[in-house]
Amino acid sequence: MPQRTPANKTRANRRLPATDPWPSLLAARPISQRLLHWYDRNRRDLPWRRHADDPYAQLLAEFMLQQTQVNTVLNYYERFIKRFPTVGSLAAADLDDVLTLWSGLGYYSRARNLHAAARRIVEQHGGTVPQAVDELMTLPGIGRYTAGAIASIAYGARAPVLDGNVIRVLMRLLAMTDDPKSPTARSRLWECAESLLPRKRCGDFNQALMELGATLCSPRAPSCDACPLRQSCRAHLRGLTGRIPPPAARARVLSQRMLVAAVRKDHELLFVQRPASGLWAGLWELPCEQVMDGESLDKARGRLQANLPIRCRLSRSPIGIVTRQLTHRRITFEIFTGTARDGHRPPRPWRWMSPSPNRRGGTSRACEAMIELLEARQALANPAKTIKKS
Ligand code: SF4
Repeated sequence: MPQRTPANKTRANRRLPATDPWPSLLAARPISQRLLHWYDRNRRDLPWRRHADDPYAQLLAEFMLQQTQVNTVLNYYERFIKRFPTVGSLAAADLDDVLTLWSGLGYYSRARNLHAAARRIVEQHGGTVPQAVDELMTLPGIGRYTAGAIASIAYGARAPVLDGNVIRVLMRLLAMTDDPKSPTARSRLWECAESLLPRKRCGDFNQALMELGATLCSPRAPSCDACPLRQSCRAHLRGLTGRIPPPAARARVLSQRMLVAAVRKDHELLFVQRPASGLWAGLWELPCEQVMDGESLDKARGRLQANLPIRCRLSRSPIGIVTRQLTHRRITFEIFTGTARDGHRPPRPWRWMSPSPNRRGGTSRACEAMIELLEARQALANPAKTIKKS
């Protein structure tokens, strides 16, 4: 068997070098100029970029973009800004209407925070989105990143941003091998993001860094050959892009089994509103119960049926299954159907509602998937009794 020598060691097996002291090797000015030059020629045409000096447009876009891909946000942003074109119109809206419009975008605490932030802006700032980062950070749901993005893009403030894309780009530029979640690494990255800011066009520069991370500097296979920063990027020059940032430790995923009651009365379904805090807080859902450890399906189904606020007999077996993968949870929903035996109107938080997205309250994507499955099954089984989406 051939002996390993320094000459035949592969790149991947080399020890990672310690992180270098950074500001001396990164000439900030050429980096910002090259990046801005690239951004001016390659940036995507996104609706909120057409209104870069409108702080409300930036506020809305930044809330929607938290943990969500640009392509997913596009439709929601257009619909939202059409319905609530100003911070005042959003502040005056009912939270239920905001949640309904947000339905399907996920992370619903963002919608509640956005609505609360709009109300605070109207009540305490005369309807004008604050300019200063520290003032922005006093609003619900706004941390340092979101505040920096709004302040720099809408007001041209010299404020850095640090999101997942920017972290990846900076760590590679610096060949930084630390855990990016550690407080020391995080503070070095903020320092670096700030030191790279140009004197002018800070908003464009921040968007350019994010754009580079979203398009060329991808997690698995960065397109270094097309990158305007390749001559300064230590990870690229040292062949370390595959190892920076280091892979995150996998979180344990819990499995949860839920039984769902799809109870129909005429053309409506029985919904229940979730509590005001926790997962899917304030959204409407089909009534459900978790199957406890060791509990039989029959017993759990009986409990689900007994806890309904109306008289109804649920089907003996599920008509379909919907699964949802959340960050730390995999939930399986088994759907049982039934028809109400009386015209009784249940008390809050229960409500009969049309399954039509325009006529029901805000629901999670999981609930939407269940309604779609019900409609598909009913259309096949009995076209005449298909749940009516008017
Ligand atoms: S050279 Fe490659 S790794 Fe470095 S910033 Fe550009 S795309 Fe990312």
